[in-house]
Amino acid sequence: MENNFAKKLIEWYKINLRDLPWRKTNDPYKIWVSEIILQQTRIDQGTPYYLSFINKFPNVKKLSESTLDELMKVCQGIGYYNRIVNMHKCAKIVVIEYNSNFPTKYSELIKLPGIGDYTASAISSICSGESKMVVDGNVIRLFSRLYNLNYQQHSSIMKKTIKKIGEKEILKFNSGDFNQALMDYGSMICSPKKYKCDKCIFSKSCEAFKFDIVDELPVKKKNITISQRFFNYFVVIDKSLKVKIHKRKEKDIWNNLYEFELLETNNKISVKDAETYLEEKHQRLSFKKKHQLSHKLTHQVLSIDFWIFEVDEVFKYGIDLPSLNNYPFPKPIFTIISKIQ
Ligand code: SF4
Repeated sequence: MENNFAKKLIEWYKINLRDLPWRKTNDPYKIWVSEIILQQTRIDQGTPYYLSFINKFPNVKKLSESTLDELMKVCQGIGYYNRIVNMHKCAKIVVIEYNSNFPTKYSELIKLPGIGDYTASAISSICSGESKMVVDGNVIRLFSRLYNLNYQQHSSIMKKTIKKIGEKEILKFNSGDFNQALMDYGSMICSPKKYKCDKCIFSKSCEAFKFDIVDELPVKKKNITISQRFFNYFVVIDKSLKVKIHKRKEKDIWNNLYEFELLETNNKISVKDAETYLEEKHQRLSFKKKHQLSHKLTHQVLSIDFWIFEVDEVFKYGIDLPSLNNYPFPKPIFTIISKIQ
């Protein structure tokens, strides 16, 4: 380990501290909200979600009293929605088992839904000073380069090795500061592509810099298979300008968000195919328009066609078009809703 690693890192952190809303509090509830939101979302994208989340649900009690639909609406567009479902479950448990006092001990946090080692370490180190080191993607990148660690980047051996190196250092300082400094340094200086070795305070001892292998680390998993899916959404508008929607319940993407009637196919379909499909369910329908878009997820690319039809009937449980804004939808569907309203 570089001499005075933690001391130098924390000095850098104090000077380069970012003015982020969750840095101004030690409230474990707010730290938890920020950590969950930022798990899979960049800071610039996650900050507006954090602010509207705290505005709508300022404490764990308020969150526990909300419906899942209300919560999903606030988080609409954020992606990886299982974490949001887990937040709802977690809030209810905290209210019942901890009398609405969000726990700060690692041993209690780790038992709650959606809280793993990373989040429990972050909350316990920031809120109760426990010497638990956080190992996120930024920390993995920084340590893999500093020490030329060749393990696959998210493997358990990589995380164990980093903790072994770092946890001796964390004992010397405020663990919350140490963890936040590590994550910031990895994100701001030892970035994935635009790393700033010329400004790095550790460049003299950095193995990757010395051997000119910065681009090769951390070692990534090879051959992630990306599947292509074809979604056809049928936006069928009745005589009173209402449409039908339902909540997704499959073990698939976008669980608990709303959608129009969906037909997934192996390839793109034609207007004729769309009409044939709907003719079995509706009479006197007329095709109006098609919107199409492509949506990329981590392991999937979705080719989505929205088929807009009008029918000469009145739906029993239809929703009028302006009221669609009250429901949580996946981002691509919400984009199209604004075009049909
Ligand atoms: S010298 Fe470059 S690669 Fe090494 S830790 Fe610093 S920024 Fe990262």
